[in-house]
Amino acid sequence: IDQVDGNFVRTVKNCVFSKSFPTPLRGPLRLAAVSKDVIEGILDLDLTVTQSEDFLHYASGSRMLLGSVPLAHRYGGHQFGYWAGQLGDGRAHFLGQYSNRKGEIWDLQLKGSGKTPYSRSGDGRAVIRSSVREFLCSEAMHFLGVPTSRAASLIVSEEPVLRDQFYNGNVKKERGAVVLRLAKSWFRIGSLEILAQSGEIDLLRKLLDFVTNEHFPSIHSGDSEKYLVFFSTLVNETAHLIAQWMSVGFAHGVCNTDNFSLLSITIDYGPFGFMESYNPNFIPNTSDDEGRYSIGAQANVGLFNLEKLLGALSPVLTQKQQKEAKTILKGYGTVYQTRIHQIFKAKLGLLGEEEGDSSLIAIFFKMMEDTQPDFTMTFRQLSEVSDLQLHNRNFTEMWALDDLSLHSHFSDWLNMYLLRLSRQKNYTDLDRQARMKQVNPRYVLRNWMAESAIRKAEMNDFTEVEMLHRILSFPFVTQETAEEAGYAARPPLWAQRLKVSCSS
Ligand code: AMP
Ligand code: MG
Ligand code: MG
Repeated sequence: IDQVDGNFVRTVKNCVFSKSFPTPLRGPLRLAAVSKDVIEGILDLDLTVTQSEDFLHYASGSRMLLGSVPLAHRYGGHQFGYWAGQLGDGRAHFLGQYSNRKGEIWDLQLKGSGKTPYSRSGDGRAVIRSSVREFLCSEAMHFLGVPTSRAASLIVSEEPVLRDQFYNGNVKKERGAVVLRLAKSWFRIGSLEILAQSGEIDLLRKLLDFVTNEHFPSIHSGDSEKYLVFFSTLVNETAHLIAQWMSVGFAHGVCNTDNFSLLSITIDYGPFGFMESYNPNFIPNTSDDEGRYSIGAQANVGLFNLEKLLGALSPVLTQKQQKEAKTILKGYGTVYQTRIHQIFKAKLGLLGEEEGDSSLIAIFFKMMEDTQPDFTMTFRQLSEVSDLQLHNRNFTEMWALDDLSLHSHFSDWLNMYLLRLSRQKNYTDLDRQARMKQVNPRYVLRNWMAESAIRKAEMNDFTEVEMLHRILSFPFVTQETAEEAGYAARPPLWAQRLKVSCSS
């Protein structure tokens, strides 16, 4: 821990954290959202606690828990392909480790809580808009079954925060907000990169030992191959994570190495997006001109980031281990493809393995590419449609399937698909539907849904944030309020004009 005091911006050497106190936000503070699942299930607290004045202060950074020394983490990273040097927690404070009844240890962090030594030119704040998005999306991802950081609460303030949302010279006054977020660890690839880049190899080893001891119980501290095993685990888990993103049409938006977790969980929600019309070139972030982080590029970006991880590990690997690590990395593509194949087979309700499965999936994707139906609802409606409806090509009210069915190959594909299903042992239509409904969500956090909730939240009406949060906690269950809000209907026209950028 850096012993220099004060939150002034500086280059830090030979440490992993700097002591840094949050800067309280201008009040009144309002609790805009709270996650019952996190408060009760992870923090072992009663939900009524969150209604207290104390909670507002602790969860927004104006008061510290007794004995807690808040820290800002020093890390670096490759941003859009290039080494960016020291980055670090520029607006986040690590509050400490929380050990709960289940014996789990969670790292608590505030985001938007003020300047740190790593704020560079930033103001240390996060606006309501981006905080609502992080709160809702991290919780939504959890309930979709995708590994992710969690969010406990969202507190909004009266603190004026200036942002140029689309970098077009149009600076607007917004308001500051703080998310209390949790992860088993917030370390990133960039956490290791900065130490390797600065030649702080003893510290690099120390951090690696800490991370592996705490989070990789199968890796033994005395094992001479431990860093290689660690790397190999990350190659696998990163491939799995990105495959899971693809299964729900999630594009992270800023897949820099500083936003890639060492635990292979989704972290740092910014200009992410859920793909609506199927499009492998979908780019959620309007600031990403070249589409480096388009949805279809994510698998390759994962590989790029793992190469950077390997670069950071090289100083602690022997020549022989470095060679082996390169071989392991060569297997990344296969791990990813195998996982994608399994996932999409399940999404199509296919059991077992048949020779034609790959082409059945490939043709399905080709048809989606050509007809661009809604990604989420195509899979969902295929899970809800009966075999009889499929046989009769009856897609009344199945608007996404109806779009797909316009494809010239659709009938041929459908015949193959129905035959493939009929060969499954003890096949019943209802079983297939039930299985598929468990892996094909009906509700994802589309930008237009978030936007509508944000507009109200900015006027201190948090009802829609709460409703979305509730609906997205059961993404696989058809819910009346969600239907009324049109969350499973064709997206409204205004949704197409929505943009999100890095400004947050
Ligand atoms: P991100 O693009 O959000 O992953 O952030 C990249 C880096 O910029 C991280 O080091 C952040 O902490 C920092 N950063 C982003 N926004 C701000 C801000 N408003 N104030 C200070 N630092 C920031
Ligand atoms: Mg930890
Ligand atoms: Mg980040």
